[in-house]
Amino acid sequence: MDAQRTLRRPISCVGIGLHSGNKVQLSLKPAAADFGIRFRRTDLGDREVPATVQHLAGIQLATGLARNEVSVETVEHLLAALVSLNIDNVLVELNSPEVPIMDGSAAPFVYLIQEAGVKTLQARRKYLKIVRPIAISRGDKRIALYPSDHFKVTYSVSYDHPLLRHQSRTLRITEDSFIEDIAPARTFTFLKDVEMLRQNGLALGGSLENAIVLGETGVLNNALRFEDEFVRHKILDAVGDLALVGHPVIGHLVAHRAGHALHTEFAAKILEEVDSWQLLESLLPIEPRPLGVPATSPRLAN
Ligand SMILES: [Zn+2]
Repeated sequence: MDAQRTLRRPISCVGIGLHSGNKVQLSLKPAAADFGIRFRRTDLGDREVPATVQHLAGIQLATGLARNEVSVETVEHLLAALVSLNIDNVLVELNSPEVPIMDGSAAPFVYLIQEAGVKTLQARRKYLKIVRPIAISRGDKRIALYPSDHFKVTYSVSYDHPLLRHQSRTLRITEDSFIEDIAPARTFTFLKDVEMLRQNGLALGGSLENAIVLGETGVLNNALRFEDEFVRHKILDAVGDLALVGHPVIGHLVAHRAGHALHTEFAAKILEEVDSWQLLESLLPIEPRPLGVPATSPRLAN
């Protein structure tokens, strides 16, 4: 897991933008080592925006990026799938300002990545390893990163709603745990907010097909995918927003009542707190070897 990875072949899908309600074509294309994750607007002369905190744009209900008047919105579910499946380098093409919402989860993006396949590149991945705690709080919203041997997330939420008084979960994020436990968790919204969003021209593409909607006493959808689907989705959002630091993080992320605004403010703060982390390049050999290259036997120490 120490070599950089990209996709084996390009792959595309079509969905709708959550806010515009417009049809969007999304393509994921293989990219070279150290390319990173970049969005390209094919409807705007192929101009690009890298998926890094330096290009963070206005955060409303989702995370957006912008550079030179080229913007992309609702990037977080796709980013969460890419980084959790260890895809370091990929070109994301969109013919619209929004990443399609699909079913409101990251599962369709996991499926796309799996269908495209993964290719290992001959370059080492750099990890951002937390060595001292970093934390910020805004009122009762808090987010922090602590040193840990693995990337794990503890998230807790509490809302003024009978179904959501308190949910909390801790999970070590691996490719497998993300695919099983996090990727299928859908975004959620409160029915009382939907009308307000629509009046503001937002969530025009929103429906029970792509979000859990909470009425006064329960959910309007037929069924939840997990009993605690809400907090699992918050973990999904946090993983996607944290991807904007540009390297896989090794540390324990702890968040309480946070959201995109705090996640992304925190991602930017991490990069400023240079004494709190080290960029770690694994010293393990890169695997697998290209075809035809014989294995070298381990060298004996002199
Ligand atoms: Zn989300």
